[in-house]
Order: sequence, then structure tokens, then C-alpha cells
Amino acid sequence: MVDLQVATIAGTISVLGDAAIEEFRGNLRGQLILPADHIYNDARKIWNANIDKHPVLIARCAGVADVIEAVNFARANDLLVSVRGGGHSFPGTSVADGGMVIDLTDMNSVRVDPVGRTARAEGGTKWGVLDRETQAFGLATTGGTNSDTGIGGLTLGGGMGWLGGKYGLACDNLISVDVVTADGQLRTASAAENPDLFWAVRGGGGNFGVVTSFVYQLHQVETLLAGMIVYPLDQAKDVLKFYHEFTGSMPDEVNTGAAFLNLPDGTPTVAVVACYNGPIEEGEKALRPLREFGSPIVDQIGPMSYQEVQHLVDAATPDDHQYYEKSHYFKDLPDEAIDILIDHFKKAPSSMTLPFFQQLGNAANRVPVADTAFGHRDARYNLILISIWEDPGESEIHVKWTRDLWTALEPYSTGGVYINNIGWDGDGDGDLALAAFGPNYRRLSEVKNTYDPTNLFRHNQNIKPTA
Ligand SMILES: Cc1cc2nc3c(=O)[nH]c(=O)nc-3n(C[C@H](O)[C@H](O)[C@H](O)COP(=O)(O)OP(=O)(O)OC[C@H]3O[C@@H](n4cnc5c(N)ncnc54)[C@H](O)[C@@H]3O)c2cc1C
Repeated sequence: MVDLQVATIAGTISVLGDAAIEEFRGNLRGQLILPADHIYNDARKIWNANIDKHPVLIARCAGVADVIEAVNFARANDLLVSVRGGGHSFPGTSVADGGMVIDLTDMNSVRVDPVGRTARAEGGTKWGVLDRETQAFGLATTGGTNSDTGIGGLTLGGGMGWLGGKYGLACDNLISVDVVTADGQLRTASAAENPDLFWAVRGGGGNFGVVTSFVYQLHQVETLLAGMIVYPLDQAKDVLKFYHEFTGSMPDEVNTGAAFLNLPDGTPTVAVVACYNGPIEEGEKALRPLREFGSPIVDQIGPMSYQEVQHLVDAATPDDHQYYEKSHYFKDLPDEAIDILIDHFKKAPSSMTLPFFQQLGNAANRVPVADTAFGHRDARYNLILISIWEDPGESEIHVKWTRDLWTALEPYSTGGVYINNIGWDGDGDGDLALAAFGPNYRRLSEVKNTYDPTNLFRHNQNIKPTA
């Protein structure tokens, strides 16, 4: 063994001695992974191959005791620390370059209470796992639309999904969380216990500690009517104008998305994805206007299980590709913004690139903005500009295309950004904390002061303690 040079929270480099590292390793039930270990390269990688960071220590925790140990070790040694849930942050906030990763990958157990209709899931669980366990009882909660993303980052930032019209965001379905805060204490946060912390973790991101488990309210969710309707790009303007009309008056059972995408044969298209969560006959009526509009290339809408719905768009974002993205919230969809999108999409440097409107959903929109930390209840859509490519040498052109489109659309957006869809280090998002948390930023900063006054969890999403 040798001493290791590590990044500190002050931005300096310090040396961790062999004895301290070995003592830390001995105190963990899980694994301590170091650069010399054969699994190190796999362990440091995340879903976005564009992120190539080299942490010095990866503490792959086996349970709450390990998380407490890791938080105490990081604090005692002033280490730059990050928390890894499902490893799907686009800008790689879960990997601290030169510092320590508190890795929750192995903490993924789920326990469903089918009578009380709740589920407790550990902080490193992925949506595909949670959905599988809850669907065994015909239950579900609002979750992300990709089965491989983590419940951790997604829920803490808000969490939009197909059930959002009826049940709100993922964070709206939280009943409680267990969190190891910066002082190494395990705290439960719920409406009754530590309510300020409970408020903050519902949309405030991973700024307040390591969430070791989430308890969700579940709902009965059985067969849904869902799928994609794909139109040629020359109908895109009319389709999106109609889409915006449709989303303005739809029932709570519906939630939607709309994307620009190229078919495997290269045909450029615009697609609307719709999901009706309720009786199929009612769904047929609710989705009929959408299905009767325009001249689609294909209408794939049909009855499917919730788990099928949750895998519907997985293939669009494969592993081991390069990704860069930025986002805007929109309330309206003016013609000028649609024109800009169509024009830029035609010039996209990659055929895999995917601008995607994700609707928050009626129930998500109805929650008063001060009730949770999620700061953008009045936005109808989150527009995510996702660039996807394979050759790391081409990054510059794809990043530029994304930034140019983001800038061109800025005048039509609300000015807010989704904390879970920021670019590298929030580049170009202006004052990221304000853009992401809007009117709730001040209160978030006060909660930060209570639970993380030295900003140990600074690698997350930019909430600073009050001075
Ligand atoms: C393919 C794809 C599809 C997506 N679809 C959706 C979608 O449908 N709806 C939506 O709302 N978002 C969606 N997102 C965005 C998603 O919410 C974020 O990427 C989110 O950060 C992923 O969480 P994670 O735990 O996988 O990521 P990680 O990279 O592990 O973590 C992201 C951030 O959250 C923190 N964090 C994670 N877990 C914990 C924890 N247990 N305790 C404390 N902090 C934690 C990390 O420290 C990090 O800063 C999608 C992303 C991708 C890549």
C-alpha cells in the first residue's frame, strides 16, 4: 500500500496515509475500491461515457453503517465527496474527480407493504427494480421513464414520469426518507419528523446528506393504454401546435412526451408518446383526438403493462455512448420556438440526438410551489436537449449544437432549469441555484445551514448554506 493524494473540499490536495486508509477499509462491511484495484475502472464509470473522472476512493457501501462510516471519514479528512445512486446524472455529479465516492450501487433492496400500499427502497435502487417489486402487487408510484436510472437522484430532484398526471412527481409520493447528514447522524425526515429536511429533499437534490432509503406511497396501476405516434418531420409544426392544445385540456389519467427523432432508416420524425393510466375504454376516448390528428407514419398505442410502459423508451439512450444535455422549462409553445427546434434538429450533427418534451403532469402542476422544494410547478414541460454520439473526439460539435439551441430557445422558456437536466457544472445556466430552485432557493439555503453548514455535500447541486 502507498499513501494517496486526494482532493479536499477546499480545492487543495492532501495526503491520506496508508494506515488511515486501511483502518477505513476495515471499518466497512462493503468494499473500498482504490485506483490499483482491478475493478476500479468499472467502478468509476457511469452511464454517460462522456464523463471520465478518477476518484481516489470509492466506498461501495453495504448498508447504513457503512454510509455513516464513509460520511465521518470524508468529514474528518476534509475530502471532496460525491454520492452515487443510480449513476445516471448527465454531468457526472455522482463522481468526485480526485476525491471519494460514497457508492450506493449495492444498496438496492426493496420492501413492499401491499396492504399499506407503500414501498421502502434503498438509496441505490434503480427504477426497473422498484417497478418490478411493486408491480408484483399491481402497485406503482411515479418514476422516471428509463428503467436504468436511479431512484436516488431522480426523486431528490423532483422526478417526472408517466404517472405524473394523476400522482404528481416522484417526490410528491414520498412519505419519508432516512438520511445520513454531514454530522454522520441518521435522521428520518417526514411530515412529522424533521419536516424542514423532508421539505428540502423533495426537489432540492442531493444537497442535504446521503439518503439511505426512500418510502413511497404506492397506487394501484394495472394495464395502461400507451405508446408512440410517429409523424414525418414535415408535419412537426402542426403536430406540436396540436400537441400543446391537447396537453392543455387532458384528464389527469394522461401524461405525455414529444420528441424529435430519426428512425433507424434515417427518416427524421416528430413523435408523441402518450400514456393513459385508467380503464382502457376511457383511455381510447381520451387519446382519440391525438390519434386522429394528422397523417402519422405509425401509431403504436395499445394496452400494455406498467412495466412495459417503463421500458418503452429505454432503447433511445443506450449505455456506453457520449451524452451532453441542457434543459429549459416551458409553459407555452409559441410558433417561433417550434420553428427554431425544427430548424436546429435538421442540422443536428448526430442522427441519435433527441430533443424531448417531458410533461410534468396535471397533478404535479397543482401542488403549491411552497409545499416542496421543487421550484417550477407552473411549467407544463421540461424540454431536454439530449445530444448523443459515439466518438469522444467529436464532443465539441455536439456540445456546441446543444448550447446554441438552448440559447436560441431561452427567450421562450420560463427561465427555469430542471436540476436533474443540467449541463456540465451547470455551464451557461446563469445562476444555477436560482434557475433550478426559483422561489424556494432561500429556504433551501437555510435548511442547508442546519444540516450541512460546511457544505460537505457540495458536489451535488449548488445549494450553499446561508452566510
Ligand atoms: C436515460 C435517462 C432518462 C431519464 N429520465 C428521466 C425521467 O423520466 N424523469 C426525470 O425526472 N428525470 C429523468 N432523468 C434525469 C435523472 O433524474 C437524473 O439523471 C438523475 O440524476 C439520475 O439519478 P441517479 O441516482 O441515477 O444519478 P446519480 O448520478 O447517481 O446521482 C445524481 C445526483 O443525485 C445525488 N444522489 C443520488 N442518489 C442519492 C442518494 N441516495 N442520496 C443523496 N444523493 C443522491 C448524487 O450525489 C448526484 O449529485 C433521466 C436521466 C437519464 C440519463
